[in-house]
Amino acid sequence: MTQDVQIVWFKRDLRVNDHAPLLAASQHGRPIIPLYIVEPDYWQQPFAARRHWHYIHDSLTDLNTALTGLGQPLVTKIGQAADVLKQLCAAHGCSTIWAHEETGNQWTYDRDLAVHKMCSETGVTLHELPTNGVVRRLKSRDNWSVIRNARMSERIASRPTALTPTPACKPDPLPDKADSMFGDTQISHVQKGGRNAAVADLASFLNYRSRAYLYHISAPELSEFHCSRLSAHLAWGTLSVREVVQSVAKRRTQLGEGDKRQFARNLSAFGSRLAWRCHFIQKIEDQPEIETHCMHPAFEGLRVNDHNEAYFQAWCSGNTGYPLIDACMRNLTIEGWITFRMRAMLVSFASYQLWLDWRITGHHLARVFTDYEPGIHYSQLQMQSGVTGINAMRVYNPIKQSIEHDPTGTFIRKWVPELRGVSDEFIHQPWKQKETLFDYKGRILGEGYPARIVDHVTSVREAKQKINDIRKGANFRKTANSVFNKLGSRKTVSVRRKKVKVEDDNQPSLF
Ligand SMILES: Cc1cc2nc3c(=O)[nH]c(=O)nc-3n(C[C@H](O)[C@H](O)[C@H](O)COP(=O)(O)OP(=O)(O)OC[C@H]3O[C@@H](n4cnc5c(N)ncnc54)[C@H](O)[C@@H]3O)c2cc1C
Repeated sequence: MTQDVQIVWFKRDLRVNDHAPLLAASQHGRPIIPLYIVEPDYWQQPFAARRHWHYIHDSLTDLNTALTGLGQPLVTKIGQAADVLKQLCAAHGCSTIWAHEETGNQWTYDRDLAVHKMCSETGVTLHELPTNGVVRRLKSRDNWSVIRNARMSERIASRPTALTPTPACKPDPLPDKADSMFGDTQISHVQKGGRNAAVADLASFLNYRSRAYLYHISAPELSEFHCSRLSAHLAWGTLSVREVVQSVAKRRTQLGEGDKRQFARNLSAFGSRLAWRCHFIQKIEDQPEIETHCMHPAFEGLRVNDHNEAYFQAWCSGNTGYPLIDACMRNLTIEGWITFRMRAMLVSFASYQLWLDWRITGHHLARVFTDYEPGIHYSQLQMQSGVTGINAMRVYNPIKQSIEHDPTGTFIRKWVPELRGVSDEFIHQPWKQKETLFDYKGRILGEGYPARIVDHVTSVREAKQKINDIRKGANFRKTANSVFNKLGSRKTVSVRRKKVKVEDDNQPSLF
């Protein structure tokens, strides 16, 4: 038996750079087991999906290459985390486990509690080091942004120069991408995972793609190129948010006068979003219940008993009869990513027009997003469904969004081929085409495309009425104030600028 082995447990931090636990462990000069645990129970949960595993699989491959280069390959184990760690500690005489503090969801929180319990029962020391800008056991939101900014300025943890190996530790075979453990969802495309892809995406965004970031951030088609596309890399930790923040700062210092005009505002808007990211994840850290409960308890029973399965299926499959909604959902299902405004519109449509509960639609979206990040996800779902009590009710009009962000219907025609021959006049509202029209081959235009399942105007009016009735209730404001004290952003400034026409969303700006 080898003595004094240390385990470094990788979770949503699949990198060797800016990995404080790995660096700290390597500095002790004792043998190391770099460990990733595939947890079958996790993959049974309603938010988990094969698409995530594809991304993780790519990332574990890059991680293994990097660790092998340092002297000790990655050890993969399959099982419950507490059991796996206990067995490894016993088998290799290990008394120390290093990991990042993970801010996930209730499932990962319970899993971490089980690991803590195992460690205290067996005398193993568990060191959990902070990650991102999220502060564990935060006493008050008032000084959160100061702590977060200080963390972002801290020196990046360097990649260890070498690891002392633990040759006796044998891994389980890494399940392949097609393994049945990860569900049977058909997926056609997944963003390439791994550190190499992450660094390449960061570089291309900072060097040229960010040039027109704000101009195209909301257009469903162009945003795919002009947004950073770093969300999956940040969610699974192939990049740390500090690495990205510091890379942005460095890029800003390198901009010449000409470039400054093109890049500076875009990089600043991008930097704000990195701050929102930490702000939202801090919410779930402070109150894990937001995964399953409305932030404002007065909204708890809303929508729950009114579930309409036919509406839900139409929404999930992109068959609501609203062209932009359907195009976005079909695009998202295939690609696993869509830009912020279109995500917000999809949820707004589901929550207001279709009156579906955010917990049900949220699980569907968690499975299709490659970048599923619980802290952002559940906060955003609640905001776009009007149940936080601390944000203005924001309803996206699917026709207005369609005319503004896909004016010529290019995106719609690409993803909803039934509408390919429909003229620009009717592409946003095909139901207005009263007469049956034919193309030059005599085919009926729009045939096969469903009639719209609800009238978007009357359904929204009813939805707003129900929400406003709750907002007028006794004690609503008092409870909203305590929600704000616990979770609200402390500084809101207008993000609409005067000179340049930009798209931005009504989000709290933190700095
Ligand atoms: C209903 C809903 C659910 C969402 N679920 C997720 C999710 O599970 N995972 C996720 O990463 N993002 C989520 N978002 C936020 C946002 O849509 C994505 O982060 C963004 O579209 C990712 O693309 P990008 O990396 O190119 O973003 P960019 O615009 O390039 O932004 C850079 C980074 O900032 C962060 N960011 C951007 N917008 C936001 C925001 N509004 N709130 C918090 N952080 C933000 C992300 O980490 C993103 O990678 C959700 C938004 C909505 C409306």
